Amino acid sequence: MDLGTDDPVLVLNSGSSSIKYQLLHPRTSEVVAAGIVERIGEPEGGIEHRTGGQRIEQREPIADHSAGLRLVFEMFARTGRDLTRAGLRAVGHRVVHGGEVFYRPTLIDDEVLATIDELSVLAPLHNPANVAGIRSARALLPGVPQVAVFDTAFFHGLPAAAKTYAIDAKVAAAHGIRRYGFHGTSHEYVSGQVAQFLGREPAQLNQIVFHLGNGASASAIRGGRPIDTSMGLTPLEGLVMGTRSGDLDPGIVPHLMRSAGLDIDAVDALLNRDSGLKGLSGVNDFRALQELIDAGDPAARLAYDVYIHRLRHYLGAYLIDLGGVDVLTFTAGVGENSPAVRADALAGLQRFGIAVDPVRNVAKDRVARRISPDDAPVAVLVVPTNEELAIARAALALVIQD
Ligand code: ADP
Repeated sequence: MDLGTDDPVLVLNSGSSSIKYQLLHPRTSEVVAAGIVERIGEPEGGIEHRTGGQRIEQREPIADHSAGLRLVFEMFARTGRDLTRAGLRAVGHRVVHGGEVFYRPTLIDDEVLATIDELSVLAPLHNPANVAGIRSARALLPGVPQVAVFDTAFFHGLPAAAKTYAIDAKVAAAHGIRRYGFHGTSHEYVSGQVAQFLGREPAQLNQIVFHLGNGASASAIRGGRPIDTSMGLTPLEGLVMGTRSGDLDPGIVPHLMRSAGLDIDAVDALLNRDSGLKGLSGVNDFRALQELIDAGDPAARLAYDVYIHRLRHYLGAYLIDLGGVDVLTFTAGVGENSPAVRADALAGLQRFGIAVDPVRNVAKDRVARRISPDDAPVAVLVVPTNEELAIARAALALVIQD
């Protein structure tokens, strides 16, 4: 992509208790500095700031997102960079839910911000934090264009049959109930990288992408456009995740409320924070899970088996949805780093043209690579995701076109 300028962009990913940030040059992909503010609003917060081989950690309570962002500015100042004079061309914000309204990178003004805030009803765990991050950034960098890049955007045009839940259509319409999909920035970026890696046009490819991080999602992409994805109205649906259940019988919700006496917030917390790998094994981090499995822990083993079982369900569904697949790709923390997951997810599928080369699979390269044998009909790839770079590029492309 020729963006025409090498001006830096600040990317902010504001979560409920954290702010991840990067200052980077979208044209060259050079990262100038990156870091994370953690445990905002808790008694013991902190920041970790990395730049040019230097790593600074500081522990202190951080009252809110505004205080968190001020601390980020302080870190930049301490390492010789005044962010207010850094020639920032834009601030790119990751925004989780764009609802039906936003499906392109969008320049943020008061009205856009108010709408993102209203969409909190669809993403109560995410959009309020995104709004807090945007408000703070606008206050600290008043002259710099602020751009929202939505996690749902890539999936906006899902086919009707894939995005529609089979519930009362009037109720669904009144409450914005449809499948929106998330991790869109990653699925779009990675599927583009896949086409480049294979030297093919996106239009020629049927792809399945597995984004397996703390959150996890799958997508089926035909000719560069998604035709299905595993996350739905919220990022709770689909694959088994670190702390989220993924798919379950919706009847479990009223059953828990009636039988276990849980109120709706307790059910929400159970399914979002205390389920998935953590609910089954006690740990949400995949490396910790693997250690427990190696130590012979049966609950961890079961959690892993459920995780793989669900992955294979989506693989099977998307193979059929697409009518055959050219390339399967693994990305994000688990997808990029766990040979076991990749091998187990694709085991015994030779009759579908899917195979993993055991030597290629365990290579530790940090770049896009093929892990299937050269002569396998389906290419299996590992492609590092880079949501920050994708957000920075989208933000810059928008502001230079204006
Ligand atoms: P997030 O959704 O927070 O962006 P990441 O994409 O960073 O998440 O993925 C985090 C997950 O990746 C964690 O479960 C972590 O244990 C897992 N992970 C990171 N490195 C490895 C590794 N070498 N082997 C297995 N899992 C790993």
